[in-house]
Amino acid sequence: MEHQPYITGFKPADSGPLARFLPPLEEGVISAWLSHQTLTGNWLLDPFGFSPRLVLEAARSGYRVLVTANNPVTRFLLEIFANPPPESEFIAALADLGAIKKGEERLAGHLQSLYVTTCEKCKQQIQAQSFLWRKGEDTPYARIYECPHCGDSGEHAATDEDKEHARKIASTDALHRSRAFERVVALNDEDRVYAEEAIQHYLPRPLYALTTIINRLDSLTLSSERKRALMALILLACDAGNTLWAHPSERPRPKQLSTPNQFREHNVWTMLERGVSLFAASGSPVPCEAWPKKLPESGGICIYEGRLKELAHEVKKEIPIAAVIGSVPRPNQAFWTLSALWAGWLWGKDAVEPYKVALRRRRYDWAWNATALHAIFEHLNGLLADGVPIFGLIPEPEPAFLTSVLTATTAAGFKLESVALRTEHDAMQVIWKTAQKPKPEIAGKSILQKAVFDYLCARGEPASYLHVHTAGLVALAEANMLNQPELEFDETLRKIQTLFSSSLKNDERFTHYSTGENVDTGMWGVTPSAQGESLTDLIEIAVVTYLQKNPNAIFLDLEDDLYPRFPGLMTPSKGLIYAVLNSYAEKSGANWKLRDEDVASARREEIKNIFALIERIGKRLNYQSSVNDKVLTWKDNSQTVKKFNVLASALLNRALEQADEQTIIIIPGGRAALAAYKQERDPSLKVRLKKHKLVKYRLLRSLLEVPILTRETFEEQIASDPVEESKGQMMMF
Ligand SMILES: [Zn+2]
Repeated sequence: MEHQPYITGFKPADSGPLARFLPPLEEGVISAWLSHQTLTGNWLLDPFGFSPRLVLEAARSGYRVLVTANNPVTRFLLEIFANPPPESEFIAALADLGAIKKGEERLAGHLQSLYVTTCEKCKQQIQAQSFLWRKGEDTPYARIYECPHCGDSGEHAATDEDKEHARKIASTDALHRSRAFERVVALNDEDRVYAEEAIQHYLPRPLYALTTIINRLDSLTLSSERKRALMALILLACDAGNTLWAHPSERPRPKQLSTPNQFREHNVWTMLERGVSLFAASGSPVPCEAWPKKLPESGGICIYEGRLKELAHEVKKEIPIAAVIGSVPRPNQAFWTLSALWAGWLWGKDAVEPYKVALRRRRYDWAWNATALHAIFEHLNGLLADGVPIFGLIPEPEPAFLTSVLTATTAAGFKLESVALRTEHDAMQVIWKTAQKPKPEIAGKSILQKAVFDYLCARGEPASYLHVHTAGLVALAEANMLNQPELEFDETLRKIQTLFSSSLKNDERFTHYSTGENVDTGMWGVTPSAQGESLTDLIEIAVVTYLQKNPNAIFLDLEDDLYPRFPGLMTPSKGLIYAVLNSYAEKSGANWKLRDEDVASARREEIKNIFALIERIGKRLNYQSSVNDKVLTWKDNSQTVKKFNVLASALLNRALEQADEQTIIIIPGGRAALAAYKQERDPSLKVRLKKHKLVKYRLLRSLLEVPILTRETFEEQIASDPVEESKGQMMMF
């Protein structure tokens, strides 16, 4: 399979509204992919409608994108991102909301009063930013604030007053709770129990704040722009108000509707205020219409509020789809259930109706995922012309997810063309094409084993299970072995997982580096003698060569150079690229430049000096030195006693290939952190290096200063030079 190079984005995954539930995709990927295609026509189809940003970027690249979106929340986000109201409308919307009367008070003041707490230091009454709770308790155990009067800030234990306040709000909870689900489902609805369950993930105070806001929405007369702005803010508050905010946790991406053991209760009013700047426009507005309204040729978004199934027939007749794009969905019970709930709160029962199934279903497994994807891809197969490419992004890739995706697509008759995988933290990039329906065959171990073995040999170093799994899946897809039409998906997925497990465990050529038993833990490798040059070493060479040719390179250009040369499952991680850069180069602004001492001529000179130095030490110990191809040998009466392999690099795999018991590998001090990084990344390298001494230039220099050097003290000194742990904030993968 000819894998396409990994396309790197120019901006990390967006951290905007509801980012924790949207696919984490780098910006710039889809536009880069599109710019390399020669498509007939400019209609694209996103059959998943999971990533508003992706669709927007494609539309801004001059394409007309038809999106099917049956989740009312993602649909709303897509509309808002495409054409956000100006910031002034958000500010005005919040002011209008805050000015509503609640008894004698303004609503803003009333909601703020829910979060009043006493500053520990200056005793003034202030607003808490959030309260911290333990699951199952009826009062918070701590609060977080920033006192505007004395500057005291951070986490403090909750006071009796805070606890009393929480209890008081909870005493009227039943009423607000029943109002909250009546907006989602009717009293006599059989799905009422599911709505009630979902609402359990709201504490009394945020639920009170939200229902108080929502119940007053109908009394507000607002322009449509201002109303959109207000709805967007309230949507954020709906998410801020639930208990799915584990504490402490930096970037939670919840998938299940379950309350963490410790969690944060956000101040709903503050979250509304914060929302104002979150929706600010980035980039030009994009025309956005509801199907079947037409779009201008210059591009835009056409949203179909439903499923692909219902649309397939009409699309086939009217719209020639040039390519399919999209973020392939993975089950997210938390987001799907909450979306149904929020749709009811924001837009009423009618908006929930088409999406109500999300409330009902509580367990999504991979077989469910495969079945759902298969259905979508079957419809796609029906409506696409032959040879239409599908560019799928698979965010947060994991083995079971991939099996599900590749099995579903193969069974639906799609031909896998390319897979590019960087790390488990980056979206995988997969290309399919429509193809003839395949004939079923029987799956076999040998194909899988050969594919994994070939991949690991080519990689030249152990790989994560995700990489190994993908290499195996690609081979099975190519051999048309993922297609088991006589089986249900759950059976097929189980079968494939068993195949992986037995293929890896029962093949002596594979080494499992793991503390766990399961095949999907740790890393997999082959015997070093079987493998070629290691990927890590090749990347080191490529980065340094690039820096030599391009002084003052920027990271993105370097990635652009590397990814086409290391495509598919060879895509290097940013962590590796940075480890090499930090070892060899200096950064000024955005530019990387080789360190003066790492320019090739300087290194050659330095190696000469080190050889001279070793020769002098040898002389003091009465050894005869000779140099042959970067290796200096000490002899004692024509018996070889030591070999010094002097490196300017950290190409340890290469050095180890020629190493024997007498070999000492010498590296520059500036390479020590990179060498340590490589050992942490590569368990096979770590094992092999235990047998050989790795010594830094500066140890040899210091040996010359030792007044009395004997053969024994030399050995001791050499043994005392530890290769340090990698320092600082290194990205491990
Ligand atoms: Zn204070």
